[in-house]
Amino acid sequence: MSYLSNTKFDVIIVGAGPAGSTAAYTLAKNGLRVVVLERGRTAGSKTLYGGRVYSKPLEEVYENFRKEAPIERWVKKERFSFMSNGELLTLEYSSTDSTSFTAYLSRLASWMAQKAEEAGAVIVTDIRVDDLYLEDGVVKGVRCGDEVLRSNVVVDAEGVNRLILERFGMVPKLEKRQVALGLKQVIRLDASKIEGRLGLAAGEGLAWLIVGEATGYLPGGSFLYTNSSTISLGLVVFLEEAYQNINQHVFNILEDLKQKQSIKEVIADGVVIEYGAHLTPEMGLGMSPKKMYGDGLLIVGDAAGLLLNLGYTIRGVDFAAYSGYLAAKTILKAHSMGSYNSESLSFYQKLLEESFIMKEMKKHKKITKLMRSNEMFTIYPGILLDTVKKLFEIEYSSPTILQALRNSIKGKTSLLKLLWNIFRTFF
Ligand SMILES: Cc1cc2nc3c(=O)[nH]c(=O)nc-3n(C[C@H](O)[C@H](O)[C@H](O)COP(=O)(O)OP(=O)(O)OC[C@H]3O[C@@H](n4cnc5c(N)ncnc54)[C@H](O)[C@@H]3O)c2cc1C
Repeated sequence: MSYLSNTKFDVIIVGAGPAGSTAAYTLAKNGLRVVVLERGRTAGSKTLYGGRVYSKPLEEVYENFRKEAPIERWVKKERFSFMSNGELLTLEYSSTDSTSFTAYLSRLASWMAQKAEEAGAVIVTDIRVDDLYLEDGVVKGVRCGDEVLRSNVVVDAEGVNRLILERFGMVPKLEKRQVALGLKQVIRLDASKIEGRLGLAAGEGLAWLIVGEATGYLPGGSFLYTNSSTISLGLVVFLEEAYQNINQHVFNILEDLKQKQSIKEVIADGVVIEYGAHLTPEMGLGMSPKKMYGDGLLIVGDAAGLLLNLGYTIRGVDFAAYSGYLAAKTILKAHSMGSYNSESLSFYQKLLEESFIMKEMKKHKKITKLMRSNEMFTIYPGILLDTVKKLFEIEYSSPTILQALRNSIKGKTSLLKLLWNIFRTFF
């Protein structure tokens, strides 16, 4: 610790998740003195996610990413299902190419931290940052207990809880409506069983998202991702809606899901080897601070609310890592000018706005709203499955699609409301 408090770093980074380590890697590679402070025992030990990451942004930042990163399987098959009364309506897409992979986030984050270390960054684990350290209102480092660690600029990559930013008054206290609760089990299973049961060729990966009964009809979704010889199974439920409507422990919803025939068949003989829970930002731009910079400060990743949940896919890791990369580019520019005030660091916001991150978050603003509508998760899965059942389970006469839909809707909602919801989501 005395070495740390006696050294003035160019940059202090709080948190060794994908955002913090990617910022550290980019800065150290360009010759800046960087230290990453992580409260977990190892980099990645405190991070948790479902299991699929989009690779392109990471390939742009890390050389030889495809060869070196701890990738489990490249996703070649996508499934999206509505579940109701144990029955499934599934859309399946098989691709010859792949833009995403499955991985353990703990290993991926630890690999990123290792890359940062190899580039010259110092990674210190088992240390908690308590506060930002200010001189004349300007961030000049951090406080860890009684110690002050000094730097020209601090990158806040502390993740979704963002307690440091809250104490600093940069963001309000986290509210239930802004976050979702994620639960995940890792289940060990032979690769041949994973592939045989899910119709995958050797080495191929699957990403499967399920809504409706899979979350006990709560707004959110369940996920199943295939790793080399494990399956990641879990769910994400919006905290506010869960809080209002839940009548059992979330843990039991996941256990119930494991008993549904379609999931039970896949995980049979599997052994749970890991269990975790974590919050995730879910308000789209509603959770992002208006200014993601200050005098001597930049905010990246989940702490900045940079996550997109579209229901059929979730993007957090690539957004986090790329925002870390953009923060690093901003600091390198500020370093060359010798100024770390908010005016110089506002360049980060400009880069973010021009990047795919903000463009994606703005483009999909409406779908993020629909994700909060109860009907999407409570009524619609049942209506869809009932409609399909009427179309396929024929005795003598078969209904037209409209007749089947009308009959399934009866007493639950109106056709007009359903069509309006579809319209306002996509147009
Ligand atoms: C259940 C679930 C499923 C998800 N599924 C996916 C998915 O499939 N694909 C995807 O791309 N994203 C997914 N995400 C989102 C993804 O995990 C996050 O967006 C991503 O991890 C954010 O990275 P980050 O570096 O900003 O924060 P984090 O990964 O949370 O890292 C923050 C780090 O800061 C450290 N820290 C916090 N406070 C302090 C402090 N005071 N002092 C020192 N260190 C501190 C923490 O220990 C942690 O290591 C999922 C999230 C959840 C919860």
